[in-house]
Amino acid sequence: MTGLVQGVGFRPAVYRIARALGLTGFVYNDTKGVTIELQGQEDRVIEFLNRLHSSPDKPPMAQINSCNRMDVSIVEDETDFTIRSSDGTGPALSQVTADMATCGDCLAEMVDKDDFRYGYPFINCTNCGPRYSIVRTIPYDRPNTTMSPFEMCARCAEQYADVGDRRFHAQPVACGACGPKIWLTDNTGKRIASSTEEVLDETARLLMNGKIAAIKGIGGFHLAVDALNEDAVQRLRQRKRRDHKPFALMADSIETIAEYAVVSEPAEQALRSPQSPILLLPRKDGSTIAPSVAGGVRTLGFMLCYAPIHHLLFARGINILVMTSGNISDEPLICENDKALERLGSVADIFLMHDRDIYRQVDDSIIHLVDEKPALLRRARGYVPTPIITEFMTGEDIFAAGPDLKNTFCFAKQNQMICSEHIGDLADAEVYHHYIRSIEHLRGLFEVEPKIAVCDLHPGYLSGQYVRSLTGLKVVEVQHHWAHAASVMVEHGVTATVIGLICDGTGYGTDGAIWGCECLVASLESFERFGHLAYYDLAGADKASKEAARPALALLRQAYAGQFSLPEFAWLVDTFEPDKARQDMILQQLEKGVNAVKTSSLGRVFDAVAAMLGLGSYNHFDAQLPMALEAAIELGIEEHYDFEIAGGAGKPLELDLSAMLRGVVADLRSDVSRGVISAKFHNCLAAALLAMAQRARESTKINTVALSGGVFCNGYLINRLVKLLKNDGFCVLLNRNVPSNDGGISLGQAAIAANLPERD
Ligand code: ZN
Ligand code: ZN
Ligand code: FE
Repeated sequence: MTGLVQGVGFRPAVYRIARALGLTGFVYNDTKGVTIELQGQEDRVIEFLNRLHSSPDKPPMAQINSCNRMDVSIVEDETDFTIRSSDGTGPALSQVTADMATCGDCLAEMVDKDDFRYGYPFINCTNCGPRYSIVRTIPYDRPNTTMSPFEMCARCAEQYADVGDRRFHAQPVACGACGPKIWLTDNTGKRIASSTEEVLDETARLLMNGKIAAIKGIGGFHLAVDALNEDAVQRLRQRKRRDHKPFALMADSIETIAEYAVVSEPAEQALRSPQSPILLLPRKDGSTIAPSVAGGVRTLGFMLCYAPIHHLLFARGINILVMTSGNISDEPLICENDKALERLGSVADIFLMHDRDIYRQVDDSIIHLVDEKPALLRRARGYVPTPIITEFMTGEDIFAAGPDLKNTFCFAKQNQMICSEHIGDLADAEVYHHYIRSIEHLRGLFEVEPKIAVCDLHPGYLSGQYVRSLTGLKVVEVQHHWAHAASVMVEHGVTATVIGLICDGTGYGTDGAIWGCECLVASLESFERFGHLAYYDLAGADKASKEAARPALALLRQAYAGQFSLPEFAWLVDTFEPDKARQDMILQQLEKGVNAVKTSSLGRVFDAVAAMLGLGSYNHFDAQLPMALEAAIELGIEEHYDFEIAGGAGKPLELDLSAMLRGVVADLRSDVSRGVISAKFHNCLAAALLAMAQRARESTKINTVALSGGVFCNGYLINRLVKLLKNDGFCVLLNRNVPSNDGGISLGQAAIAANLPERD
């Protein structure tokens, strides 16, 4: 059997079912998965397989991808079923699994007064608890985890050794007598409370009084505050120096979440999954969530309690908390006690700490629903380091460095793609060091020996410089948007050629321009640029992705060709760039081509339209303006602005959005509402992308479309486009298991490198 069948309690489950059915034989881990040999009556063997594939017998974290069966000869004197360590042909695949939310069995024990782990904040079992975040090195045994200082008591040790027990070989197993403990300090590190009860009571009381708590969890510290207390949330914003980005929320039940947001059936399923991600949900009108939690967006990011500590706190009367990453702006998550006091002492009033060290900081994962099914926006806790299984075998091990923004990196080994958790933006020196350390750590955990290293084409990327500095490896450069398309293909096991519709902010193109909105005809071996958004000029290098006036002026100038002048458009331009001198300077730069590049970026078109609609003129965080534009949409509008697709005849088609721009201006002049304009803009893009896909289908006879790129984090756009494409008979593939934004690039890079045609 292959799939996620190692390190998830699979062999003990096999053992229990086989024993219960009176079957004999054995089970062991091998290099591809698990091998089971069974002897007994045929109907029993069939029942065995049924039970292994379904709850409650299937281990919750296990995923069976394939099951090959064959007959073997009878072993005469076999009387028992046994677990063997391995077949000795090679190392097991992966030993380290992802951190999982506290399971139902553990929760039931935690609230059972007669259980010896009653109220214990570190209860866990084979089916739940920390894994990746506590492992230092392999083999995955207790001495190699941060649980090594804790010696198991007799009761824990007995469960750990009992193959029939839920805690058989659960490395972090512990109880109040032998395991980690919690305590509470003020922001100078002075203890306020030490007994578990007192710590939890006091933390809950202070939180409900508006205090900010730093709470050490599974993957690092959270900063927590009562989400219904506007003063407290504002205080957290000021102290954390996070002015704009929405905060994530935590609740302990679906019912509570449903008071504030719309929870559909698939949403509930995603929230309750053992990965326990943050899910973006439509906000309910008139909800009493503090306004400062999430301004400028129409969604709220919710997760359920996922660590015992969370459940115990919420049981003390807490309704809903802001739970945001314990860091200052975008630095790596803080996970050490000392560092938390040092760095967050000016942010949090109290610190709920514990003595189970976190070896790997892992952020909360974020997902949204596309076409009613989960799609990751940030892949970290709960999902990493679970490999993505490929249809093909990688020859030599591969390291894919990822991009510089929203970085993740990826290793390819055999039929596994091992993607790192969300690392962040490498321009930050701390993040960059974290990146280098993380590469070594993950490489060690999975025993990867890369012979090939992949990076982006961009000559200025730090990730690329790192790759080129490695010695003895073959270096492969992969175009950014091709990698986006490949990330979708490998996720879905597609090796044929597809139409890739990539809607993105920026990526370095093969012609030196900054690409963004691309229609590629792509396989894992090669790609061709079939069409793209017509180039426009962007001046000001890095500033161009923050200051919306830059793309706005460039696009207006292009849309009105010779007829654009600042005085004539002062009524509009003054609203997003009041400084006349700056308007002039940007226009000069564009006209003279100073510090200007050609781009087909779609992200910047969103910035420009958002600015024209008065939704802001500066991206304080990535995609702030596009998110505001999406939030402004009036639902139920079917109209769209015009667009043109021109060119061809040996050259890529060009999508011209000038008519759309002129339409927006005309609507603004006649006081059409922002909600309607935003809807017509989004609808225009969906229609234009559909038209582009149709042109590609006509020309190539390919009917499969792969959607990727950061712009598809926009729920309205991707859901609308998926519908249009499906209605037109396209087979639509999109990113689910990795983000469609740059967090998925490393997977695509690795897939392309794994399928390189053999050259000298
Ligand atoms: Zn459990
Ligand atoms: Zn114990
Ligand atoms: Fe991208």
